[in-house]
Amino acid sequence: MSDVIYFDNNATTRIEPQAYQAMAPYLTELYGNPSSIHSFGAGCGSEGDNTAIRGILEGAPEKRHFVTTAVEHPAVLGLGQHLEKKGYRVTWLGVNEDGMLDLDELRDSLSDDTAMVSIMYANNETGVVFPVREAGEIVKARGIPFHVDAVQVPGKIELDVKNSPIDLLTVSAHKFHGPKGVGALYVRRGITLRPFIVGGHQERNRRAGTENVAGIVGMGEAAEFTAKDVAAEREHVGGLRDQLQKSLVSACPGARVNGAKSNRLPNTLNIAFEYLEGESILVLLDEFGICASTGSACTAGSVEPSHVLRAMKVPPQWLQGAVRFSLSRYNTPAEIAFAADKIPGIVQRLQGLSALGRVGTRETLPGQAS
Ligand code: PLP
Repeated sequence: MSDVIYFDNNATTRIEPQAYQAMAPYLTELYGNPSSIHSFGAGCGSEGDNTAIRGILEGAPEKRHFVTTAVEHPAVLGLGQHLEKKGYRVTWLGVNEDGMLDLDELRDSLSDDTAMVSIMYANNETGVVFPVREAGEIVKARGIPFHVDAVQVPGKIELDVKNSPIDLLTVSAHKFHGPKGVGALYVRRGITLRPFIVGGHQERNRRAGTENVAGIVGMGEAAEFTAKDVAAEREHVGGLRDQLQKSLVSACPGARVNGAKSNRLPNTLNIAFEYLEGESILVLLDEFGICASTGSACTAGSVEPSHVLRAMKVPPQWLQGAVRFSLSRYNTPAEIAFAADKIPGIVQRLQGLSALGRVGTRETLPGQAS
């Protein structure tokens, strides 16, 4: 077992050695300008999301309504807020207590003024998987462009864009053992996309700028590696996740698994410990070399409770105490056993320190409504 137990794979993953080796020549001897290569390798996931959404909206300036969900990653959430400031009407679709989307709410939100719909495939904090096929059928029945942020999906569940009602789909290499700062945006033939980065004619006029060749090569290699044996990996990683979940739920009274009743990514466990703060748990986990996260990496360090857990109406005594364990194919049963052995002690120690923990039967925190 290595010194570090890495359970933060929804934040970023370790680069796969073959991807790294494939990139090396493009950073040294193969340095030619790639303008003649016709692949579409955008920047990171955030850039892919921005390219898709801004590119569609700009192509239909007469339509002023944008539909997304309240639990998106900040890449889409922030853009939606920006669009609101620019005068767009934005529908923020809610989720139920299990983090699941309501397809009737989606259907009812659509109008002749709707320029596009963008929803995530799987939630980065809870792992909850949305029914994107059904959602896409509803959206396409109205002839509206449909974008899916699938950044958390590759290697975790099967992804088939060709046989689905998806017009645009974003992935990001560093979430599937590829390099950081490179991603891909799938654009269905026939979809008109205005460039977000304007300038030269690279990438068939869709994104100006000399391509990050080494990054794109590394992403291709990582994609091939990741696409192999997805079913077997899902079973392996899902088994480890389920084991960790079972151990923690039985050893930590008051622990609550967020999104447990929904279809979830097999690698993700979002578990909240009553009356504790996730950040304190992370500090003590770190002493044992265990890396996890309280939610999305982009909000780490912020004291605001997660917008995802708030949208799920997680009761206040669990809102601050969520920890996300996100596994990868590189994790082992020994690492799970080690974590399952150490975490209950950490939780007990913190609950002992916490005045709130000592009155752990209260339903609400002081000053908060139930
Ligand atoms: N979308 C989702 C669902 C994510 O989880 C992330 C990253 O955590 C992003 C978009 C942004 O990707 P990137 O970090 O490559 O910009």
